[in-house]
Formats: sequence, structure tokens, C-alpha cells
Amino acid sequence: MQSTIITHQMPTLHYGLGDLAPQISEETMRYHYGKHLATYIDNLNALILGTKFEMMPLEEIVRRAEGAIFNNAAQAWNHIFYFATLAPNPKSTPTGVLGGAINREFGSFESLRTLLLQAGTAIFGSGWVWLCKDKHSRLSIVPTQGADNPMCDGLTPLLTLDVWEHAYYIDFRNRRAEALAAAWERIDWRIVEERFR
Ligand code: MN
Repeated sequence: MQSTIITHQMPTLHYGLGDLAPQISEETMRYHYGKHLATYIDNLNALILGTKFEMMPLEEIVRRAEGAIFNNAAQAWNHIFYFATLAPNPKSTPTGVLGGAINREFGSFESLRTLLLQAGTAIFGSGWVWLCKDKHSRLSIVPTQGADNPMCDGLTPLLTLDVWEHAYYIDFRNRRAEALAAAWERIDWRIVEERFR
């Protein structure tokens, strides 16, 4: 049987590095996408060579690996997902079935925003804050540490915001709450709605 080693690739962004400004500057994107994400992907490609992970799709590595391979695979997945959630001209509020589910679960879209930004701001150290759905399509806000991903707990991520300092220190220094509020404005709810289906 022919076996093929997978070389994980940088994702193509559907916007320019400067197109998310002023909420996320071009300089942040040059470091965050161009250096941090690239390093996770390079590390992953090096670490998986000669292991059972070298032929696995990225999501499967995230679900099955531990240690350094998990950390680099999950950080690659999380960043690809994060960058794909943002847009220069985002749909600013969810409608349809997702809009209804948010109102049922959180009372209002504004309440979801408040709770998710609070949860992200409260993470001690590095991590991510997620909106997820479970297998019954119930929504939840999930804060995670380090590279952790809610997929590993059986949840489906709908969106995430990056709470690592590298995501905001160039633009916001230590002001994480402001950085998360700014990034929130770049979430394209059209994309999140598609993930909820
Ligand atoms: Mn990051």
C-alpha cells in the first residue's frame, strides 16, 4: 500500500494582512500569522516525521496526540480556525437558527458578547475562548488553557478568540479586555452561522 506523508501547509487568508485594521493591525498579523502560526506548522511537520502521525490529517492529530505534537498541531488548528473566522467586512450579528439559539441560551446577543469576553479576559495565562455547540446543538462558552481545543471533549467549535499575549501585545500591550472586544468586531457571523448548521 502506498503511504503518503502529509506536509501541513499555511492556510490562505481570504483577506490581506492589513485588512483587519484598526482592530487588528497589519504588524500583528505579520507576526501572528506570518511567524507564530508558521512556526507551529513548521514544528509540527518536523515532529511528526517517522511517527504514526505523519500521515494523519491535522484534526485527527489534534484528537489523538499528546505533548509537543499535540501542542503544535492544536495551535495550528486553532489559528487556522481563528483566522478563518475573521473578515474585513464581517456580518456583525447572527440571524436565523444561530441567532435564535443564542437568544435562547444567553438571553441576547449582547449577553453572549459580555459573557464570552469576560471568560476570555479571566483566563489565567495563555489560552483561547470558544463558542461551541454540543451534539444536541446546545451552545456554550468554553475557556481553554494553552493549546487545548474543545473538540477533544466532544464539542464542535463555532468561533474562537486568541487570548495568548502574542495575539494582542503589539496593538494593546497588556489591555487584554480591549483587545478581545476589538477582535470581536472582526468576527464574521456569516461564517459562524455556516458552522452551526
Ligand atoms: Mn495566537
